[in-house]
Amino acid sequence: MINHLDLLIVGAGPAGLSAAVAARSCGLDVGVVDEQGAMGGQIFRNLHLPFGRDVLDEHDKELGLQLFDAFHASGARFFSETTVWGADKNTVFCKHKGKSEKITATKILFTTGGMERPIPFKGWTLPGVMTAGAAEIILRSGGHISADKEPVVLAGNGPLLLSLAMHLIDEGIPIAAWLDTGRFSHKLGSIMHMGSALGDIPYLKRGMHMALRILKNKIPIIQGVNQIEALGENSLEKIRYQKNSKWHEVASHTLIRHENIIPRVQIASALGVELVWDSVQRYWYPKTDEYGRTNLNDVYMTGDGAFVNGGEASINKGYIAGIAIAQDMGVLSADEGALRCAESLAAMRKTCKARNYLRYVFAPNPDAYKVPDETIVCRCECVTAKEIRDAVREGFHTPDEVKRFTRAGMGPCQGRMCGNALAEIIAQEQGVSVEKVGMLRNRQPFAPVTLGEYCSLHAPKI
Ligand SMILES: Cc1cc2nc3c(=O)[nH]c(=O)nc-3n(C[C@H](O)[C@H](O)[C@H](O)COP(=O)(O)OP(=O)(O)OC[C@H]3O[C@@H](n4cnc5c(N)ncnc54)[C@H](O)[C@@H]3O)c2cc1C
Repeated sequence: MINHLDLLIVGAGPAGLSAAVAARSCGLDVGVVDEQGAMGGQIFRNLHLPFGRDVLDEHDKELGLQLFDAFHASGARFFSETTVWGADKNTVFCKHKGKSEKITATKILFTTGGMERPIPFKGWTLPGVMTAGAAEIILRSGGHISADKEPVVLAGNGPLLLSLAMHLIDEGIPIAAWLDTGRFSHKLGSIMHMGSALGDIPYLKRGMHMALRILKNKIPIIQGVNQIEALGENSLEKIRYQKNSKWHEVASHTLIRHENIIPRVQIASALGVELVWDSVQRYWYPKTDEYGRTNLNDVYMTGDGAFVNGGEASINKGYIAGIAIAQDMGVLSADEGALRCAESLAAMRKTCKARNYLRYVFAPNPDAYKVPDETIVCRCECVTAKEIRDAVREGFHTPDEVKRFTRAGMGPCQGRMCGNALAEIIAQEQGVSVEKVGMLRNRQPFAPVTLGEYCSLHAPKI
């Protein structure tokens, strides 16, 4: 049982841990909860274990270890395997080992991170098909990506594919092909934004180093791919891809697809935090100021969950939010808050500027959503692209309307996997923007919760 906290942080990734360190330095009583078994979030997953450490480059490893040390020294409390499934005015509802509990706090900061953009394609449910994030998790847990180091195929468009390719090269796993689904015109257009990346030379250098290693390893990169299909009887046997209206095939038992990271906005949407559409990266994000303040009193959001700027920016974003919260609670004066934030604020602005270049380079190609009719879009309820398109033709024009008619987005993942694709397909069918059709409205509980877990919240204590 946790007593009332000054600050409850949901998410123990770089942003959450850093926010805890900052808030503790101002004397706040801070608790951090995370559904994972250990702290670290995505980038610092399993950093406490050799597998997790070995995958990271020296720079990230050093950053992560410093952050862990600072967190342990801060006196903030950490609650692992604790999933937040609901929230209401200074209270969150979470579950831990089959039981629910309510935690109250003066301020609540959500640092729940991002997720990989799910783009449906034919055969994406076959064993052997995974995302780059899943492949990273396997590597960081000491698992094997392909049996006997058989060649794998990479597909998609996003910086995580670059770092995964490095890790595969290090592991001695050959890459049979890299199917690039990015648009050439986007990449060309991104040159206009390259100046911003020049403001952070070490960051640029790391990217160049990765690109050079990929070239040196002579990985066959096929650009301009606009459709992908995974084929096989019971598991993946080969991949078909379309380039310049022609279909080609490559044999492999492992396909790793990644289409960049998008903020997880289900909690923001369910709580009524104002959301904004980014037309370059084609995602919704919560509207916050630089300090993580939202339109709701006492509710803050930062890190990749507020806008995807990467791990290093998340550390600074978290620190700034932690200080701002102490300031909003009257613990610090505005001048002192500004002084304590200055270094992190300058570093964050610099990194975000450099990351802005990547936002354009890896802009998603909306044609990727022009999937064949038979493609399953909602994996939970097995709803196909055809059923969604038919619903639009029948007069259902928003994701919520189509959901009610087809059940797409109504399964246990609550539209996390299909919500974006649903909106893109509905928009394409009507010839309007995704911003216009809007997104699936999320409701509490944010995470699946059993009746037993729910009722344990109200059960009398014996
Ligand atoms: C799948 C994936 C893999 C990635 N791999 C890399 C990589 O290898 N290298 C790299 O540089 N960047 C990687 N990134 C990007 C990188 O993770 C982020 O830039 C950085 O970790 C963001 O930090 P954050 O603190 O905002 O969020 P995260 O690190 O994502 O942390 C968010 C935390 O919130 C927790 N959480 C979410 N919802 C709840 C809930 N309801 N209740 C309780 N806890 C919750 C999660 O378990 C997680 O630990 C990856 C991103 C993703 C999505």
